[in-house]
Amino acid sequence: TALGRGDSVVVIGLGRFGQALALELAESGVDVLGIDTDETIVQDFNGRLTQVVRADATREEVLRQLGVADFTHAVVAIGSSMEASILASSWLLRLNVPHVWAKAITAAHGQILTQLGVHHVVYPESDMGRKVAHLLRGTIADYL
Ligand code: ATP
Repeated sequence: TALGRGDSVVVIGLGRFGQALALELAESGVDVLGIDTDETIVQDFNGRLTQVVRADATREEVLRQLGVADFTHAVVAIGSSMEASILASSWLLRLNVPHVWAKAITAAHGQILTQLGVHHVVYPESDMGRKVAHLLRGTIADYL
């Protein structure tokens, strides 16, 4: 499901993962709404994304008011609060956002997200660990 014209992405949680994701997309011209509860973060991202809003994404009425149901893609980038991650993911699914992505911190967290119906669950640390192993193997192979 590559992004095309007319696609829009809502990124929930602008921590290290969410920030990198949102900026990368915005810089390539994608319509990005960022949501975070932290006022300092929201101020910092003002003008760098299509829209940035200070809001609690675990509240359904907040997501509705922000028009999240009209987005084609959503990414839940909250990690440390599994409860917040699960709640936000569950509202996005209930609002019928077509492509819901979420990051998981532990295997149990990922399993719950998958069971909820989240379309793509990513594990930043273990995914990147595997990727670096592949990169290392490629590099080492050059010297064998
Ligand atoms: P990272 O590793 O990407 O830096 P993390 O896994 O430690 O992040 P958190 O710190 O839990 O994840 O959350 C990332 C961001 O999500 C933070 O900026 C936090 O303010 C925001 N956040 C947490 N709860 C909510 C919520 N209910 N609604 C919106 N944003 C939230």
